Amino acid sequence: MSKFDLSKAKFATLCVHGSGGVDPLTGAISIPIYQSSTFAFKNAKQGAALFAGDEEGYVYTRLGNPTQAALEREMAFLEGGEAALCFASGMGAISGIIMALCRNGDNMVSTDTVYGGTHNLYKETLPLWDIQAREVNAINLNKVEEAIDQKTRLIFIESPANPTLSVIDIAGCAAIAHRHKIPLVIDNTFATPYLQRPIELGADIVIHSATKYIGGHGDTIAGVVVGKKEFIDGLRAKILRDIGAVISPLNAWLLLRGLKTLPVRMDRHCSNALEVAKFLSLHPKINWVRYPGLTTHPQYELAARQMKKFGGMITFEVKGGRTAGEKLMNSVGLITLAVSLGDCDSLIEHPASMTHSTYSEEELKEVGISEGLIRLSVGLEDSSDIITDLKLALKKI
Ligand SMILES: *Cc1c(COP(=O)(O)O)cnc(C)c1O
Repeated sequence: MSKFDLSKAKFATLCVHGSGGVDPLTGAISIPIYQSSTFAFKNAKQGAALFAGDEEGYVYTRLGNPTQAALEREMAFLEGGEAALCFASGMGAISGIIMALCRNGDNMVSTDTVYGGTHNLYKETLPLWDIQAREVNAINLNKVEEAIDQKTRLIFIESPANPTLSVIDIAGCAAIAHRHKIPLVIDNTFATPYLQRPIELGADIVIHSATKYIGGHGDTIAGVVVGKKEFIDGLRAKILRDIGAVISPLNAWLLLRGLKTLPVRMDRHCSNALEVAKFLSLHPKINWVRYPGLTTHPQYELAARQMKKFGGMITFEVKGGRTAGEKLMNSVGLITLAVSLGDCDSLIEHPASMTHSTYSEEELKEVGISEGLIRLSVGLEDSSDIITDLKLALKKI
């Protein structure tokens, strides 16, 4: 057998083989689900050595598990990072990172449009620990730099952002972060490592709600963090161990399976979304459409520079605002009215009253989430069927 150097393999090959090949014990090509909470020690001395960290191995699934480890290897490979750590959810990953980097009295600088749950963490929970999240419009890089002071411990960005699809200059933010000797953390959920590789652009830590495109089938909640080995080791040993937001072996296996088809799925999500965005932008009952792949998107050129393709998420507004939008959401038949994104199924929702209801009315206005804004996660159906469904629903308005 030739020794193929996986570290030099192309992205699609890594997606299939990055977890380290077949199971060494049995030859199973699907890494087994090690559904075990605990692992036997050979003797008392080995147990003590494992606990002391003098020997590598598995002890207890909250501290590590072979199925979880295979997923971590693969995610680190795909993001081009040194190491990775899985969490029970995207929110577990985000709060874990902030806990690792901030102490009471510290602050962080963040983009102002983020996932609604992240905004709620900033607004409700971080203040209880006396940690301040300063949300700024990071499309203007000066705003990021101006918000930094001696107590700032990280910059956190989301690009493309949920749900405005604003595109943030990753390399620009990384330069600012490094000038101030703090890490740049990016939520890469919307893009996935197939479309955007933030570490190559200077980011230090990448997080995912793996619930979305990484899993890709709408059947798992999970989070992943990728970064330097030293940071990830500390995150595992201190934060994950104490907070306990650990991924289950079954969920880790579902994500490993999802990753094998990530590039194939993303290609389809992207081509479908572009067709749907074009259709909507020409429709007389539509006010505006936002998709990073349309030249009308305000940061189209930046998106084209830092992304391989433009993703599967679209936002738009129907003429007649919220009422007309609700009519549309109640009229679609193929597309499902539900939150979440990145599934095989197309999903439609209303951020102001659903995923981003954690923003106050003034905050929604300030960050550009209008009352009538509708978010569409374009799925893997035939694009002509998605368009027909929208066409028929728009006729009812
Ligand atoms: C869904 C989502 C999250 C939260 O992830 P969970 O897995 O639901 O905890 C974070 N960021 C973005 C961009 C998301 O879409």
